[in-house]
Amino acid sequence: QKPYRTTVVGSGNWGSTIAKVVAENCIERPQEFDQTVRMWVYEELINGEKLTEIINTRHENVKYLPGIMLPANVMAVPNIVDACRGSDLIIFNIPHQFLSNILKQLKGKIDPRTRAISCLKGLDVNRDSCQLLPDVIFHELGINCGALSGANLAPEVAQCKWSETTVAYRIPDDFRGRGEDIDKQVLKHLFHRPYFHVHVIDDVSGVSLAGALKNVVAMAAGFVDGLGWGDNAKSAVMRLGLREMIHFANLYFPDCEERTFTEESAGVADLITTCFGGRNVRVGKYMAKNKVAAQEAERVLLNGQSCQGIFTTKEVYEFLSKRGTIGDFPLFHVTYDIIYNGFPMEKLPERIERSDERY
Ligand code: 13P
Ligand code: CA
Repeated sequence: QKPYRTTVVGSGNWGSTIAKVVAENCIERPQEFDQTVRMWVYEELINGEKLTEIINTRHENVKYLPGIMLPANVMAVPNIVDACRGSDLIIFNIPHQFLSNILKQLKGKIDPRTRAISCLKGLDVNRDSCQLLPDVIFHELGINCGALSGANLAPEVAQCKWSETTVAYRIPDDFRGRGEDIDKQVLKHLFHRPYFHVHVIDDVSGVSLAGALKNVVAMAAGFVDGLGWGDNAKSAVMRLGLREMIHFANLYFPDCEERTFTEESAGVADLITTCFGGRNVRVGKYMAKNKVAAQEAERVLLNGQSCQGIFTTKEVYEFLSKRGTIGDFPLFHVTYDIIYNGFPMEKLPERIERSDERY
């Protein structure tokens, strides 16, 4: 029911940035959206002061998005259940390794009419299944979930520099043509800004899969950067990376549309920006330059933020090797071997040579 109440679950640099975008739109559309945007914040002490209190009094996330003023209608809430209570739309925006714990705490406490958008970048790989995170949210909470992803380096969006993004949402069958749902128009109103152009599509699987897999490619692009091999080498990695992303989608998520990868911001554009300016590429580059492990590079560079590609590389490897198809994915495979098995990154070209002939 209007006005819709919104919650952002997560307050890292991207979570805080999306809360800022949403809060700006809520102010401009008081008929449509409740004025308060709750943001769940994992409570931590910063020089003896609670992060939630800092955000609620000084309107700045001093740890994860320093130097950016958040609108005063962003309200930091330390308890996850309180943050989501009565919300019509929950936007998940946390490092994906924290998702299962968050969903455990919310399970049974969310109205099934609530809708969700996942800004998460990752996969959920179990013994022999691989689930996309909007599907995990649906299975755990029983609420319909879309996805938002695009070529969106958080610091640039936070500074209101122009970019594009993709929002994917499918109206659930039981709602089609009757009653109110968080429909596409509402989502556009919630996320679109003059500096943040939203394209709404149906392909939830494609958007969330592309957002996860590009982080693996970005790790490999970082190795090539750190080795000083130049832009041609990096483009070769990105070309093969895109090919493997699409092949993965075709094999395991046939509901994905190929054009999401080739035409949407969530596809090729996000791959490009992530391989040039993201955290994953920086971590890969630091590993190559300093000959250190991925976790060490993450710790030194990211001030408590997470490099999602480290996890996703492992999840993708485990899933593909169980399926017996890892041979079809030489770039994903060699990236795993470099991060987890000490394979020398200088030999990356040998491992991917002429790989296109395999399929
Ligand atoms: P990372 O900063 O996590 O590499 O991601 C960048 C990104 O997703 C840009 O759209
Ligand atoms: Ca992105």
